[in-house]
Amino acid sequence: MSLLIEKLQPRLVKQFQGIIQNQHLAQGYLFAGAPGTGKKELAQWLALRLFCQNLQAGKPCGQCPECQRIISGNHPDVIQIAPEKQTIKVEAIRYLKNELYKTGMEGAKRVFIIQEAEKMSVNASNSLLKFLEEPASDALIILTTTAKSQILPTIRSRMQIIDFHGIKATAAFERFTALGMTPANAQLLSLLTRDYQQAQTWLVTDSFNQLLKGVLHWFHKVLQADSEAFVLVQTQVVANAKNTADQQLAFEMIINFYDFLLVLRYDKSRTIENSDLNKLVTAAMNLSDQQLMTQLSLVLDIQKQLRVNVSFENVLEALTLKILAV
Ligand SMILES: [Zn+2]
Repeated sequence: MSLLIEKLQPRLVKQFQGIIQNQHLAQGYLFAGAPGTGKKELAQWLALRLFCQNLQAGKPCGQCPECQRIISGNHPDVIQIAPEKQTIKVEAIRYLKNELYKTGMEGAKRVFIIQEAEKMSVNASNSLLKFLEEPASDALIILTTTAKSQILPTIRSRMQIIDFHGIKATAAFERFTALGMTPANAQLLSLLTRDYQQAQTWLVTDSFNQLLKGVLHWFHKVLQADSEAFVLVQTQVVANAKNTADQQLAFEMIINFYDFLLVLRYDKSRTIENSDLNKLVTAAMNLSDQQLMTQLSLVLDIQKQLRVNVSFENVLEALTLKILAV
């Protein structure tokens, strides 16, 4: 059995395999990176690697009783803390500290995972800091964060920082399908986010689906160089982009769809699982690589104007005319 993280972040998994083999594991790590890059999963993988009783070529099996207890969150020596309502309270850190000073029940290392560590309250941060200054020797502490700069510098300086780089849409697609999403949904949504939770939320959000449908409709006409696209700005896109977040999201969609079309031209082996994407690919057949790239650069230029408080509708209409002229 190959765990998902081994596909998602193969380089980091390999790196930690080496670190553990050479017994160079540090006491504390800060895993930093965008949502969906596998920070929590790698922290859990490390716990599995340390406790698994059936290692296979240096990798945890994911199936033995020890692995199962960690995966289900019931291992007494693997303590996981996640924020409650946007903050990690001092009580959670107190519980953690109590646990930290106990010795390992089964003689092995103990693993502490604090997710979204930037959400620790000041009190919680200070408690953790006190512990880090005189750590228990058998503890491995892993903090995960999407906002490294918001972690106290005094905590950061006591941790080894591991930066998680963005993952590719194809890796996110594999992950989404492995987690049960249909290939059609997974392919479309993996272009827009690498975060499975985000993708799941979007799938069941009406306003998101309407915006996506509207943008796809508009974009399809744009690719066909059909002047009806100009009219669709209002009825399909503006009407479904109710606030600035939606408007930014609409631009992200357009940019990622162009990116998808361009990548496909260099990677013809890829199968298209989604009928909307297939329509876009067909519509783009008459456009050269150069035309697609010129259109994309127009979108990227105009996206910047959105931030300077101009009308979304005017910006998108002007953009549509420019693209149609390419
Ligand atoms: Zn195992």
